[in-house]
Amino acid sequence: MDWEHQNPRVGWLCIGITLYQLGTPFIPCRFRAFYTENCRWGHCSYTHSTTYNYSLSKVGTTEGRQKYVPFTRHSAQTTLQIFRLAAAYRSRVYPTREGKRILEFIYSSKQFKTKGGLTAGTATTHYYASQEFKLKQEKTNSFTCSPQEVISGGDYKQTTYCHLLLGLFFSDQVEFVTSTFAYSIVQAFSSLEDHWQELCSDIRQGTLSSRINPPKMRKAVLDIMVSPNPSLASKIEESCKELQRVDWFGLVPKLWPNAKYVYSIMTGSMQPYMKKLRHYSGNLPLVSADYGSTESWIGVNLDPSLPPEDVTFAVIPTFSYFEFIPLYRQNKDCNSVLDDFIEDAPIPLSQVKIGQEYEIVLTTFTGLYRYRLGDVVEVAGFHNGTPKLNFICRRKLILTVNIDKNTEKDLQMVVERGSQLLSKSNAELVDFTSHADTVNQPGHYIIYWEIKGQIDDTILQHCCTEMDASFVDHGYVVSRRTTSIGPLELRIVESGTFKKILDCFIANGSALSQFKTPRCTRNQVLLRILNFCTIKTFRSRAYD
Ligand code: AMP
Repeated sequence: MDWEHQNPRVGWLCIGITLYQLGTPFIPCRFRAFYTENCRWGHCSYTHSTTYNYSLSKVGTTEGRQKYVPFTRHSAQTTLQIFRLAAAYRSRVYPTREGKRILEFIYSSKQFKTKGGLTAGTATTHYYASQEFKLKQEKTNSFTCSPQEVISGGDYKQTTYCHLLLGLFFSDQVEFVTSTFAYSIVQAFSSLEDHWQELCSDIRQGTLSSRINPPKMRKAVLDIMVSPNPSLASKIEESCKELQRVDWFGLVPKLWPNAKYVYSIMTGSMQPYMKKLRHYSGNLPLVSADYGSTESWIGVNLDPSLPPEDVTFAVIPTFSYFEFIPLYRQNKDCNSVLDDFIEDAPIPLSQVKIGQEYEIVLTTFTGLYRYRLGDVVEVAGFHNGTPKLNFICRRKLILTVNIDKNTEKDLQMVVERGSQLLSKSNAELVDFTSHADTVNQPGHYIIYWEIKGQIDDTILQHCCTEMDASFVDHGYVVSRRTTSIGPLELRIVESGTFKKILDCFIANGSALSQFKTPRCTRNQVLLRILNFCTIKTFRSRAYD
């Protein structure tokens, strides 16, 4: 008997998948205009029958525009599944005490009803409002410090203050510190640097700062902090004074002495915040959180002891139907190819090869068919037959003037090199973004930096030249040599500029939990903020 007869189900499955692959076109990366517009008006026709209620989730694009994808009970259930799985693996390496607390910097944004009657909001907002979020706390027997009224408070500055206050109030009970993306932890601790005296005063007197407005949030916090705690306040105050003297190095273990680790997404576009996170975490391990998207969860970190730079994500094959488009870096001399990679035919998860780069394609239980996620991953190995992925970058080219092609990862590496010169002068890079100026001739790259600390202009001039010289893309190097691309410009923006950008995103309905600074922008509103806040400009002298 042949293999197919012995395994009739598998045989039919293979035929089914092949027909599916032949018959179903790809949905281009994050293209959903027609599809989601229909959903918003309530005209969805999903072939997947489901008894779950549909919601719509907002997804940010690299550019900062927002789009909508479906979110169902299944989405919340897979979130619970992956969180429990990841917690089990973490507890093997870093056991935590049962029944204690997690300091979670998590934020919901507003939900609203579409004309079709669907609830729309960010994926994290739906999740924090779901039954599964409560269940996660019960099943993992660890509880977030803040009540629901704080998480859904709406104003991220007020929510951050309350997270910090309650985190400090429960300081002995906190087992680990976490957020969805590392950015939120960094911004929370930078706000602690500014508000620690006020936080201590609230703990000392059992009060709540007048900066917190929503009555429900005030009541929920004060119901927890029922009595003044002067001894705890004095202890925290003493620690903060000591921390101030060492530029807040080791803030986490100092203020949360029982914390075992810091846990968040630290890969991809969060990599630039790692340095600051390490600084705040002192000797505590940083554990890189799992890989997913609003559309579907993808993989889990099975080896939490690995440093974030080496982390891989084991794909969970039951979360979606995964396909992989093999990607080959294009021949550097071939300028006719518009994209940054040459693609091969998509293959199923069972056929991927170690060392090969792929773009992920999803068919989800929420009704997305052959949906290109736009992420580039590399297969690093296997775990029981399922691939372990390295996250490489977002696929989209972000900086291009003519024949040059630089990705988010290229930009990150260049900025890392340029900013190394800052550390020698006791200054640090707070955040950055970029823009390809094709309006002024010759076109050129502009990199915007926000810096903390004083720094000499000669060093900044050096940083600028170093960054320009560090782009290794052949198209860029050739164009710079022939001056068809002009010298790179470094624009230094005033302190607080990236907070303004964050505010702008939040005002447009983003939630801090899912915020990622756009690393390259053509968004006119953002460019106006950046250019308005520019205080110094430098032009590269590389290739002079
Ligand atoms: P969103 O749907 O807005 O939450 O963003 C999902 C995107 O965030 C993914 O497509 C990735 O580009 C990025 N992302 C999510 N998890 C990770 C991770 N663990 N490492 C790197 N990037 C990630």
